[in-house]
Amino acid sequence: MVIQPKIRGFICTTAHPVGCAQHVQNQVDYARRHPFVGPKRVLVIGCSTGYGLASRIALTFGAGADTIGVCFEKPASDTRTATAGWYNTAAFERLAHKAGRTAITLNGDAFSDEVKQQTIEQIQRTFGQVDLVVYSLASPRRTHPRTGETFSSVIKPIGAPFSSKTIDVHTGRVSEVTLQPATDEEVRNTIAVMGGEDWQMWMDALRSAGALAPDATTVAYSYIGPELTFPIYREGTIGRAKDDLEATALRLHEEMQASGGRAFISVNKAVVTQSSSAIPVVPLYISILFRVMKAHGLHEGCIEQMVRLFGERLGTGGDVATDEKHRIRLDDREMRPDIQAEIMGKWAAVDSENLGELANLDEYRNDFLQLFGFGMDGVDYDADVDPQVPWLSAAASEA
Ligand code: NAD
Repeated sequence: MVIQPKIRGFICTTAHPVGCAQHVQNQVDYARRHPFVGPKRVLVIGCSTGYGLASRIALTFGAGADTIGVCFEKPASDTRTATAGWYNTAAFERLAHKAGRTAITLNGDAFSDEVKQQTIEQIQRTFGQVDLVVYSLASPRRTHPRTGETFSSVIKPIGAPFSSKTIDVHTGRVSEVTLQPATDEEVRNTIAVMGGEDWQMWMDALRSAGALAPDATTVAYSYIGPELTFPIYREGTIGRAKDDLEATALRLHEEMQASGGRAFISVNKAVVTQSSSAIPVVPLYISILFRVMKAHGLHEGCIEQMVRLFGERLGTGGDVATDEKHRIRLDDREMRPDIQAEIMGKWAAVDSENLGELANLDEYRNDFLQLFGFGMDGVDYDADVDPQVPWLSAAASEA
């Protein structure tokens, strides 16, 4: 079958197995060129795309870690390609096995008690205990494992409507958008999906099963960003969920410190992922950010960030540098005052006509397509490919 991108709104409903494999290979090559000393037995929750995939790649190929991953992806059917995360995982497992590393992936709902239990059993069979837990879930929905209630997250401002510039990334049209504020219930639901409760449940379950090394580290990811996105991000519904996630990190850190363990939040930079492309206003900001950071030689994607996190910030063995809220600031380059000042100037001036000079929409679009394995150098997109790609790890079919 010849696979072409089919874009619907802010997602692409097809994915290319060879292109996804190339995307993974490029990240593996980067990690291999930047080796570091790191933990050897790792659990990555949300391991198939974006920051979670890059974490798994950085730790496996930069530090020689063995990993168990959890994700929620779909294999190919007779009428559809698999999801990009499915193909990424297939490619990752193949490369990891070739390098002599253990890489086992469980495919299922990480919010459920069943998947937590299956993961713990897998850890006990494979490693005994894990030294590092990376929590990198991004989901629009969560069914609570105890009450059965399903919560949907929304990306809305709180308290008042928010008007801002935004971009249609497909047409390149810059326009004004007004977003209505969330209800109290929508705020609560977003916290239930993207806040810290599930992370805490994972850590409690791992600890009480004895599957967590006493001196283990755990890290979850957050974002702050510039003031211009505050009403829709940091001070909106998703920001409230991140406040809750960050409070969970502090609580976990206190609990884990008694046995030499640690819990952190890493505030990562804005990148194009399936999750961030769904946030209004943010794609225009990222397009300008790309232009400015590239011009300063500071551009980074997920893999560069994750190599820096595990290789430099967490991997040194000494004290970990954090801000006053106990957060590792990997967004230091994005938030540099000179970078932000330049972005603000371009933001104020940008419109549909001058977009090409002030922003880098091509780069944004290219990154977006690459999330689904399209637009990769060296891949023949006219070739017939088999969309059915199995995972090597046996656990995939059991989960
Ligand atoms: P992503 O959409 O690329 O990845 C999400 C991962 O979660 C995938 O592996 C997916 O399979 C998995 N997942 C989703 N629902 C699941 C479920 N029910 N069960 C099991 N797995 C499930 O997202 P991302 O952008 O890499 O985000 C990861 C984290 O990084 C989030 O906390 C996000 O807020 C944070 N972050 C993102 C950015 C950004 O710009 N993208 C910046 C800073 C921080």
